[in-house]
Amino acid sequence: MTFQDFNISKPIQEAIQAVGYTSPTPIQREAIPIILSGSDIIGCAQTGTGKTAAFAIPTLELLSKKNRTPKKPKVLVLTPTRELALQVYENFSLYGKKLAVKQVVIYGGVSQHKQVEQLKNGADVIIATPGRLLDLSNQKLLDLSGIDTLILDEADNMLDMGFIHDIKKVLAKIPADRQTLFFSATMPPNIRKFANSILKNPKEINV
Ligand code: AMP
Repeated sequence: MTFQDFNISKPIQEAIQAVGYTSPTPIQREAIPIILSGSDIIGCAQTGTGKTAAFAIPTLELLSKKNRTPKKPKVLVLTPTRELALQVYENFSLYGKKLAVKQVVIYGGVSQHKQVEQLKNGADVIIATPGRLLDLSNQKLLDLSGIDTLILDEADNMLDMGFIHDIKKVLAKIPADRQTLFFSATMPPNIRKFANSILKNPKEINV
């Protein structure tokens, strides 16, 4: 199987080729068609499986077909750490290189000034750690009312790190009518319960 077997348009196919991937990894084979269909997903997958591309590629494909208004980002990716946020940002930048999609990465522990400046220039995709995201949203520096795709990456780590309250507050600020992609390396009962509370008829994949 190759990436050409997916219903993905040329600019993204070319970007994937430029990165040098020849065939999709198992999680990509399973997740990409499900996400392209618009369904919610629970992906039980470790880092190193290619999970980032598994959600970034179809999300970019769907986004490329939507009317975008940069003052209202459409995609929100939540990650537990700044390092993971930056990795996810790099992935979106790589696969979206030939699309006019703008992504902004947001995390705490640094001055908010540069992040706010970037937001003012417009963003289609926000990749963020929950605390700083909430902070900027509370200051009305970020409009989350247009989010139609929510991605939780390393959800188990986010809950372990105590982000549950922040995530719930973020959920209250984004539309209920959305596609939600939930990725976690482990799926103990508390994580599954949380997943079920925010997903609608999810398809589940395990790799
Ligand atoms: P991740 O699990 O998202 O952290 O990805 C792990 C590594 O696999 C990253 O360095 C990716 O660049 C790489 N990768 C992702 N998808 C593919 C693919 N289809 N073929 C080869 N490498 C890939």
